[in-house]
Amino acid sequence: MVDTAHRNTDDTGVAGGVGVTALLVAAARALESHRSDSLARDVYAEHFVRAAPASADWPVHPCQVPDGDANPLWGRFARYFGLRTRVLDDFLLRSVRVGGVRQVVLVGAGLDARAFRLDWPPGCVVFEIDRKEVLAFKHRVLGGLSATPRAARVPVPTDLRADWADALPRVGFDPAAPSVWLVEGLLFYLPPAAETYLIDTVEGLSAGGSALAFEVKLEKDLLEYRDSPLYTATREQIGIDLLDLFDLAPRPDSAGRLTDRGWSASVHTPFDFTRLHGRGPLPEPNDALAGNRWVFAEKPRPAEVGRGV
Ligand code: SAM
Repeated sequence: MVDTAHRNTDDTGVAGGVGVTALLVAAARALESHRSDSLARDVYAEHFVRAAPASADWPVHPCQVPDGDANPLWGRFARYFGLRTRVLDDFLLRSVRVGGVRQVVLVGAGLDARAFRLDWPPGCVVFEIDRKEVLAFKHRVLGGLSATPRAARVPVPTDLRADWADALPRVGFDPAAPSVWLVEGLLFYLPPAAETYLIDTVEGLSAGGSALAFEVKLEKDLLEYRDSPLYTATREQIGIDLLDLFDLAPRPDSAGRLTDRGWSASVHTPFDFTRLHGRGPLPEPNDALAGNRWVFAEKPRPAEVGRGV
C-alpha cells in the first residue's frame, strides 16, 4: 500500500529515529507527575526514560530543570504533553464508562502506560500498536517493574506505513463491537497516504458507537516555525530535530474524511483545554504549537443515523 521506503524507516526502537519521540513524551509525563499541580500521573514514565541510553540523563523531576517553566522544552513543551495526556485520559475513560465501549486501541502507543495506570471497567481490552522494537523495550521495562495491567493488554507489533487493517482482527479485535481509538502524537510522522489509510482503517473497523481522538498539525508548511523556541530547545538540549522526523508533505483533511462518512467531529486547540483546566500552555509568538489541533470524532450508532443525533 504505502511508502515503506520512507526516511523515518529504522529498526532502532527507542534508540533513535521516530522511536525516541516516545521517550520525549515519557520524560514529559514523568515531569508532569511530579508537579504539585499535576494534570496527570504516570509512575512508569520515569522508568522508561532512565532505562534507555538515549534519555538516561534527561530530567524526570522538575527540580532537575534549572530554569523550570522558563525552559521551552522541559517547561512549556512538557506541560503541553501533560495537558494532552490528561485530556486524552478523560476522553478514553468517558468512552468506556459512559459510552460502554470495551475495546481500546492505542495507535502509535509508544510508551503510553494507560493500560497499567487507568481505572478500566471490567472486560476492557487495550490493543497497543507500535513498531516491534518499541513494544519490546516497553515490555522489558514494565516486566522489570513487575507491572500489572489493569485491563487485558494486547501488543500489536506493526509498521503503520504498511497494510495493517488485518492485524487487529487477527489478535481478537471485534469490528462488530464498538471501540475507542487514540492516535496521540503520531500522524505528522506518517506519510499522507499512511494517514489516510489509518483513518479509513479505523472507519472500517469501527462499529456504530465508536470514538476516535487524534492530533494533527494544520500548518500548510510545517517548517513555518522552524526557529521557534520549542523546536530550537528540543534540537539543542536533547538532539531531537522534530522537523526532521515529521513528514513534511501536505496533510490530508482527516476530520473532513470522517465527517464525509457520517462521523461527527469536533476540533479543538490545546489552548481550549489550558483554559478549561486553568493550567497548560497558552499561545505565544512564533509558536510551534499554533497549528496543533485535537480532534474528537464519533461514529453514530445505527439508531442515530438519519436522526442527526
Ligand atoms: N502515543 C504515544 C504517547 O503519546 O505516549 C507515543 C507518541 S510518540 C511521539 C510517536 C510514536 O509513534 C512512537 O512510539 C513511534 O514508534 C510511533 N510510530 C511512528 N511511526 C510509526 C510507524 N510507521 N509504525 C508504528 N509506529 C510508529
